[in-house]
Amino acid sequence: MDSEKLTKYYELLEKLIITTNDTENFSVEKINEPLAELCKLFRISKGVTEFYKSAAHEKSGRGDIFVCYDSGEGGKEIMGRRIVNESMAVAKCRVYMTNGAKPLNDEELEKVDLIMQTVLNFISNYRTQKVVERLTFYDDDGYRNIRAYIRYIEQLNEKKKLGTHTAAYFNLRHFSQINQEIGRNNGDIVLKNYYVMLEEVIGDEGIVCRAGGDNFVAIFDDSLLIDVLEILKGVPVTYDSTTSKRVTVSASTGIFRIPDGFVYEAFGDIMDKITMTSRTAKENPSDSIVFFDSKTEEGIEKLSNIRSIFPKSLDNGEFRVYYQPKTDIQTEEIIGAEALCRWEHEGKLIMPSDFIPILEQSADICMLDFYVLEMVCRDLRHRLDSGKNAVRVSVNISHKNLRDSELPERILEIVDRYNIPHNLIEIELTESTTDVEFKEIKRIVSELQQEGICTSVDDFGIGHTSLNLIREIPWNVIKIDKSLLPSNDENPHSTRNILFKYIVAIAKELGLECIAEGVETQDQVQMLKNNSCALAQGFFFDKPLPVDEFEDRLDN
Ligand code: C2E
Ligand code: MG
Ligand code: MG
Repeated sequence: MDSEKLTKYYELLEKLIITTNDTENFSVEKINEPLAELCKLFRISKGVTEFYKSAAHEKSGRGDIFVCYDSGEGGKEIMGRRIVNESMAVAKCRVYMTNGAKPLNDEELEKVDLIMQTVLNFISNYRTQKVVERLTFYDDDGYRNIRAYIRYIEQLNEKKKLGTHTAAYFNLRHFSQINQEIGRNNGDIVLKNYYVMLEEVIGDEGIVCRAGGDNFVAIFDDSLLIDVLEILKGVPVTYDSTTSKRVTVSASTGIFRIPDGFVYEAFGDIMDKITMTSRTAKENPSDSIVFFDSKTEEGIEKLSNIRSIFPKSLDNGEFRVYYQPKTDIQTEEIIGAEALCRWEHEGKLIMPSDFIPILEQSADICMLDFYVLEMVCRDLRHRLDSGKNAVRVSVNISHKNLRDSELPERILEIVDRYNIPHNLIEIELTESTTDVEFKEIKRIVSELQQEGICTSVDDFGIGHTSLNLIREIPWNVIKIDKSLLPSNDENPHSTRNILFKYIVAIAKELGLECIAEGVETQDQVQMLKNNSCALAQGFFFDKPLPVDEFEDRLDN
């Protein structure tokens, strides 16, 4: 090759390498340009690159084909290269020459081969990156995932653009009900269509991602806030395009309008704010959209404080178990007790409502539940060893534990380690909200039942109670929530009175024990008697008591 041609070759090769290294701004046109010139330089009449996700795709011809240069004269194939990369994708390069053209000499062949290798390496890596991108930043159902959200936020932060954006966390309202009404498959379609609606409104000015189940996060340019809120407040969503069947979907939403000059250090700086406010929105039936403000900020500080001191406090034995007696209202005899946790921290007694919801956001609650179970077994063993009578004690087990496939085994391990007769232990679980949890609860309750350990459905009557829950799961006990207990002056025909009567009757029919929680007055006790609800737990009889006071009550 003469020196002029050689210089030109190196110039074009360099251009090609630079373009292929710039993956962010990559376009096929950009690499085609130097390639086309290289083809001309080497008298090539046509250059083709192919990419297939797998050998099977190659066989059936389902792939991407780029033609970098075509003189229109075709010709015969003079060289080809094929590689299979780590993820089994196939990349190919082929070059053609017209019949009359001067054939390539050895030096030229070598140089053309180097060009082909450069292109193949690039194409297969770039395509693999795309596959990897899909696996990393999308979930199995094709929704962008939380990793995509983190990346987007960090990119905005690098460009110093967070300040003009708004972040949101939202949970679809009554989505399990929608699923029940229109069926799971249609529910999936609704979920996707709702997501797409938001994607369309947000466009290139932000991102929507699924955080699991019917929970989503979004971040978008602040100028889109009104349009986005319109969708979040509630819109009809079609799930059957032929009949235009639709349901109205709205979301409980926490919003954080990121202020100018906001200092971003970690993802939690934004995520904590929106999850916290969305939780407030969820609890609030009238206002489904809640904006982050200084009050929420205090809550977050409290939250991170509790999270950080919890492990040490558990080790230090700061958690105490109190026992609230359960009473037979006819005989006034104590027939059992519920173990309730108290936190004694720096001389103050912290109540469960201040720390349980926070611990329930992570697996910390599981550690606490098992700790309480162990303390209960220890106290029971103590009492049995002293030859006194013991009553059945119930322990609250949070929903977070349902994911633990060995939950029944772990409960039994502790109970048996203290050699506690199984009939002295009861496990309280609250109602489920999702189908998956429902199945888990059913499995756990059945397994415990086989081992002679009682189970109760706690706080029955609030949340998403369904008759299925008590019909399909072999519970021993229903604990009627205090919010369903009629107050003294309540009209005997009020909904609450009727509901209460009805639940006690169903429990009886199904052969379940039934206990009313939060019984505070003599009138309420009378009301229980009138409805044949035999058992009560509440301040009228006893408050939760430290173990020695509880045992004194048992002895007298
Ligand atoms: P829960 O399981 O429904 O427990 C009953 C709650 O009602 C207790 O509140 C009890 O003190 C309260 N209570 C009992 N009688 C009356 C009454 O007559 N009037 C009123 N107004 N309240 C009454 P506590 O101890 O504050 O616990 C609150 C919740 O925290 C519990 O509700 C339970 O869900 C949770 N919790 C407590 N300890 C644990 C634990 O060790 N693990 C888990 N996972 N949750 C726990
Ligand atoms: Mg309970
Ligand atoms: Mg309860």
